[in-house]
Amino acid sequence: MDVRKFLIPKKILLTIIFVSFVIAAFFLSREFSLNLSESFAKDNLVPTELSRQSGIPPEAGKEALYWLDAGQGKARCFLCPRQCLIPVNQRGFCRARKNIKGKLYCLTYGQPVARHVDPIEKKPFFHVYPGTESFSIATAGCNLRCKFCQNWEISQLDPESVKVAFVSPQDIVKEAKETGAKTIAFTYTEPTIFYEYMLDIAKLAKQEGISCVMHSSGFINAEPLRQLAKYLTAANIDLKGFNEKYYSSFCEGSLASVLNSLKILKEERVWIEITNLIIPTANDSDEDIYNLCLWIKDNLGPDTPVHFSRFFPMYKLLDLSPTPLKTLIRAKAIARKTGLHYVYIGNVPENAGEDTICFACNKLLIKRAGYTVLENNVIKGKCKFCGAKIAGVWE
Ligand code: SF4
Repeated sequence: MDVRKFLIPKKILLTIIFVSFVIAAFFLSREFSLNLSESFAKDNLVPTELSRQSGIPPEAGKEALYWLDAGQGKARCFLCPRQCLIPVNQRGFCRARKNIKGKLYCLTYGQPVARHVDPIEKKPFFHVYPGTESFSIATAGCNLRCKFCQNWEISQLDPESVKVAFVSPQDIVKEAKETGAKTIAFTYTEPTIFYEYMLDIAKLAKQEGISCVMHSSGFINAEPLRQLAKYLTAANIDLKGFNEKYYSSFCEGSLASVLNSLKILKEERVWIEITNLIIPTANDSDEDIYNLCLWIKDNLGPDTPVHFSRFFPMYKLLDLSPTPLKTLIRAKAIARKTGLHYVYIGNVPENAGEDTICFACNKLLIKRAGYTVLENNVIKGKCKFCGAKIAGVWE
């Protein structure tokens, strides 16, 4: 028997294979596209490049900067010293970065949970445009776990658990301009958590002639910090204590990383002010305070303003007492003894510890009551009385 008559002609066979391939490809791509759409819709994440494929308009979330594919679908984040290794569908320690299908996304992009106009003194900055207002923003999340956190209600949340409308960087800059604010401040929570959002806002703000400032823990890696520093005028860094044991047990952070960030900001010519929250029995020893001040003087210079801030029982440290005023006065005396020129006491309204005094002639330069500037004798960056140059960002 001639079996060749039962064989399908080659041309028809090729056509059948081709048509099958096209049909399979159609259904596979549809399935893939649906999976993407569902996943991003659920997570409120529609990255721009994928939104074009899925047809869903971009809203919140953006592919993160500073991460690498670590193999097997895992992502390694390099934004902060924690350098989390994040498996698919998991998030980093900060809760703000999530691995979706092998890519790392920043969940806080365009999701400000706070937008307020504050006096710049509230950040606190005492040597940056005194008496002006600062358009201040924050998102949820944090890469530290400070037991004394003042903003724990938002810093310790998953970003998507707070539903807010998407606000673009353009809208933030526009709003800031409309309020007449001199600066935009990244503050309240840790700005590293919304790094990509902050960077985009800062770039736009610079084009529009608005300065940007941040209040940060300084727990960030060198490369992203240098990139950000190009667009920052000033940074107030929480130097929370001066020993590693304190940093690890009270904050789950590391002192060495923060000191490194401070040196980088100095190199990048960002104006620096330091805040040190003094907590009774935790970080209030003379030795720690002395070492902290000496390090600041030797590495950042004697003109670096230091704000010693009073602690009030908060979050997980409800069993401790508020910092006694005498401890803050003692800290100020130690700081002055090490040679620091500008030392302030914060969170104590009845004390005159927030006034700026000329380091050269000892006369009153800036008188403050709370966050209000009552008198300013710094003229073009100099003391009105003796002409000494007063370090800061004045005009
Ligand atoms: S930014 Fe977040 S995800 Fe990245 S290393 Fe730090 S804690 Fe981990």
